[in-house]
Formats: sequence, C-alpha cells, structure tokens
Amino acid sequence: MFYTAGTMDGERLFELRRRTFDTPHFRGIEFIEVEAKSIINHVPGSYLPFNWTINPYRGCSHACTYCFARSTHTYMDMNAGRDFETKIVVKVNAPQLLGKELRAKRWKGEHIAMGTATDPYQRAEGRYKIMQRIIATLTSYRNPFSILTKGTLILRDFDLLVDAGRVTDVATAFSIPTLNADAWRKTEPGTPHPRKRMEAVRKLNEAGIPCGVMIAPILPGITDDVAGMKEVVRAAVDAGATYVTSILLHLRPGVKEVYMSWLGETYPELVPKYESMYPSAYASKAEQNEISRRVAGMVNAAGGIKKPLPHRRARSESHGHAERAERRARPEQLKLI
Ligand code: SF4
Repeated sequence: MFYTAGTMDGERLFELRRRTFDTPHFRGIEFIEVEAKSIINHVPGSYLPFNWTINPYRGCSHACTYCFARSTHTYMDMNAGRDFETKIVVKVNAPQLLGKELRAKRWKGEHIAMGTATDPYQRAEGRYKIMQRIIATLTSYRNPFSILTKGTLILRDFDLLVDAGRVTDVATAFSIPTLNADAWRKTEPGTPHPRKRMEAVRKLNEAGIPCGVMIAPILPGITDDVAGMKEVVRAAVDAGATYVTSILLHLRPGVKEVYMSWLGETYPELVPKYESMYPSAYASKAEQNEISRRVAGMVNAAGGIKKPLPHRRARSESHGHAERAERRARPEQLKLI
C-alpha cells in the first residue's frame, strides 16, 4: 500500500502487481498497477480556479528534465530521477471509481481538470486506455472537463472528445515549450515531436474542441531566444490556439537537484547563470514578467488569437460554457510544468 501526498489529504493506493512489457515502446519501464481509494481529487484552497482533478498515472515517461511533479515520486519511496520516468503507477480502477463518484449525490457536476500532475497521455495510456474510459464516463454524465498534455496520443480519443463536446464543456491544451529539435530532444526526451503536438492543436481546434498552447516552461539560455519563441507563438496562432501563454521555469526543491545535475552534464556553461537566477525556486518577478510581456507582444504581432470555432453545446443542460472551461484550464497548465 502507498500513502502519497498527491492531494493535501494524502492518497491511498493499494498495489496489485508490477509488470514490465518487453516491447520497444515500453522497454525499461515498469508499471505498478494499483487500486486507488478515490479518483476525483479535491484541490484545497482557492489559489487555482478549479476545484477538482483526476490523475490516472503517477510518474511520467515523457521524462521532461524540468518536471515539477518529479518530487511526488519520493512520497512513494521512489526517486525523482529515473524512477519517476520509468516506474509508472497506474490507477487501473480509475474509470470504475469515477462512475461511482459521479453518481454520488454529493457530486455537483463541477469542472474536472486532468493533466495537473502527470501527463494522462503518456506512453502507458497507449496500453491501459484509461483516459478513453474516463472521457466516455464523463461524457455519459455530461460532466465538464479539461485536459492538458504533451501527448499526441490524445488524438486517439478525438471522436470521444468531439462527442463529449456535444454535451458538455470540453477544453484541451498542449504544452509546447519549443520547436527547436535539439532543445526538445535534450529537455523532453520521451515526448512526441513538438511539431506533431502543434498539428494536434490545429486538428482539435478545427474540430471545435478548444485547444490552447502553453509555451512553458521557458528555459533560460535554452529556449528563451527571441527567434525561437516567436516561431512557437506564430505556429500556435496559425494552429488556431485559443490562447497562448508562457511561464518562466521554476525549480522547487526535489526538482532543482535533478534539473541542475542534468544541466551540468548537458549545458555546463549555463550552470552559473542558473545559480544566480535561482537562489530560490523562482526567478525574479521582473524576469517572469518580462517573459510574459514578450510573449503577449509576439501573439499580437502574429495577428492575435482567433476565436474558437463555435460548434459545441447549445445545450441548456451543459454545466457551464466553453470560455469558462478554457479559463479554468489555464492554471492547471501552470501547475503541470
Ligand atoms: S512536465 Fe508533464 S509531460 Fe513532462 S514529465 Fe512532467 S508530467 Fe510528464
């Protein structure tokens, strides 16, 4: 049994079995199949504009060097480095639990955010298909939701998302920090190519499933060059992104050690810069604001955000409306990175 600090209350996960699959796609990855006690997690406090999340996986094979969620693996007696990338906890009973929790009288049909801790469309999802069943369940209860991901595997569920969008508010978002192939390979080695992600943004928006782009995190000295950032912004605007935002890297304890060790091996010349920029977890407010201001200017220069396609939900039963769902999706992205 695991007790983790994934929610403020802690989370109880009962281990069922450990499995490895010797296929090229999963080589070197261990799946720890667990039963969760509950699946809709309450987000305490009011610092985020959504109250509920679902995270079917812990750990993430996308293996982003900067991932803020790395430290959560240490709550389960695993490390924030390779263990986080290769020992993936799979909540195999998530869809069944979700149905039960959505049926409960106390559930009021609020928006549920996914992708707030680890990526729901990481490689494990190709095998376990948990998101497929979660989306189908949310749709059958007309429960609004949003998904943030780097996984183009989300397109496998394209038809399900379109169906969901007909009966409730659905919002999606992709995290695409850079289009530079060298920086991508070094910083996010397990993720789909960023141009494939951008194509997915286009496809979702063209189908009327609102999809924003989070250029995040911006990595000082690696992905913060003006030309590179402009390229991402332009591509996102062209892909019909319903918003384009950015955030400068932050490095909380646990993640900082992993990141700095990787930086020392991969970009040793940048270590002094980071040491001076990150005496604490965050760069200075001025540096953070400068990045946001710069991206906002680039969005305007690229012609601004086009309106999302208005195909969906004229239904009065819908719990809210698309704009609110999108607005609520943004902070979860901030949380993901
Ligand atoms: S940043 Fe997201 S996609 Fe990357 S490892 Fe973390 S959870 Fe996975």
